[in-house]
Amino acid sequence: MRPGAILVAAALATAGCPSPGPAGDAAAGEHDGAGGARVVTGRRQLMGTDFEVSVATAGPEARAREAIEAALDAVAGVERRLSPHLDESDVSRVNAAAGAEPVRVSEETFSLLELSQQISERSAGAFDVTFAALVPVWRALRDQPPRLPTDQEIDAARALVGSRRLVLDRAAMTAYLPERGMALGLGAVGKGHGVDVGAEALIDRGVHDFIVGGGGDLVVRGTKHGTPWRLGIQHPRRRGELLGELTLDRDQAVATSGDYERFVEVGGVRYHHILDPRTGRPSQGCASVTLTGPDAALADALATAVFVLGPAEGMRLVERTPGVEALIVDEQLRVTMSAGLRGRVRLVE
Ligand code: AMP
Ligand code: MG
Repeated sequence: MRPGAILVAAALATAGCPSPGPAGDAAAGEHDGAGGARVVTGRRQLMGTDFEVSVATAGPEARAREAIEAALDAVAGVERRLSPHLDESDVSRVNAAAGAEPVRVSEETFSLLELSQQISERSAGAFDVTFAALVPVWRALRDQPPRLPTDQEIDAARALVGSRRLVLDRAAMTAYLPERGMALGLGAVGKGHGVDVGAEALIDRGVHDFIVGGGGDLVVRGTKHGTPWRLGIQHPRRRGELLGELTLDRDQAVATSGDYERFVEVGGVRYHHILDPRTGRPSQGCASVTLTGPDAALADALATAVFVLGPAEGMRLVERTPGVEALIVDEQLRVTMSAGLRGRVRLVE
């Protein structure tokens, strides 16, 4: 089990067991003091990570469980539409038709691609869902022993990256990658969207006090029996330890991007999974970015954008985006926070 921000966050939020059970379906109920008040939690392995739903309720546990299962089912639907590992997903079909023809996609996928293109513009290309052309090149890191791609390999793939070239036609509801070898990857925005969809499923069922989280992205609604939900921020260099605690006093989404969950070290250098499209290489400057915003898809995309931009330029993007706040940990483990987070974060000494 990877100690991502969400798992630690959910553990704090439910004051429950910090090491969730085996992968797959799991569930736990926990009484929370007087009356029938409790936090009911369900988990499922989805979108390549652990999704977790915690509901604070004074009502029947069975009703909460039913809503949690519906939320997790809704996330599974998002996975089927976005996964690059499923041939029939929108993303796989667009990628397979690169250089050949536009492909009709769901309105949901289309809107996510539109959002992604906007965030690319706003971040001067730091966030770019067409980064995926670089993925085959960096698979060399998985060789035994790990290999670094050559400059030529990187440059050739980098020439295929560029969101501006992604053609979106809303009237036809199609997406088109004009050159063979171009590819979409929604890994930096899809989980956030999944979390939003899970949250909507809960709200549709009349559930108003909950946390939905997956892969470092969360939506928080209401309170835990009148007390604000508290989230743990994972320390980027000390596995399983907290860097700080964030108190959320209103409905919010939170996303975390970090270099500590998936990386390979070669020659003492850390090669992580967030690539800077401008260099074609893992970005430099940030160890983790935790960002709050109005919805999780936006927060997810922006957290990745800020991570790639680095601490200084990243914070400037946060400060000029209304409704968004961020805590950035740089590679020297220095912490900076946007003005709106001060007073809501308690750093662990
Ligand atoms: P996150 O944890 O949200 O920052 O997303 C990381 C994932 O986003 C990676 O595993 C890649 O699938 C994808 N990704 C990597 N670099 C970029 C980038 N520059 N723009 C968009 N997506 C990226
Ligand atoms: Mg992201």
